Amino acid sequence: MSHDARHSCSVCSPIPDSMQVETLHTPERLPEAVDKLEIIGGYTLDGQVRKCPACGAWFIYTHDHDSQSGVGYGYTDEGIYRTTATAAKERLEKALERAQKSLAEFTKSEPRDYYASMAESSAEEIKRIEKELKRFTS
Ligand SMILES: [Zn+2]
Repeated sequence: MSHDARHSCSVCSPIPDSMQVETLHTPERLPEAVDKLEIIGGYTLDGQVRKCPACGAWFIYTHDHDSQSGVGYGYTDEGIYRTTATAAKERLEKALERAQKSLAEFTKSEPRDYYASMAESSAEEIKRIEKELKRFTS
């Protein structure tokens, strides 16, 4: 996509190429536009693939929260950065593999009720990723 297209997009133009904020101790926040991006798949801990519903630009969203021990300072980091279609595709292929493994696990885990909803969200994620991956090949 051209430089001009990016800055004229009504949805994602407020999002910079790369931005990271620490939300636990600072008032910094990512632009609201980040919430308007379509979530495709992947874990937020190592990079969730998001897509602009208006112009189709690709983004990676990260969210890392340290609250393991309750001792110490802790942090909540949130980040967003623009990525290429090629990189997004590679990431989605990995995310798809992972979601399929999760689905297989959740389907056979007990208690049933608890894992049923997790299996459902994995199945939905798989559908979303497959739909996007098809677009790359068409
Ligand atoms: Zn856009």
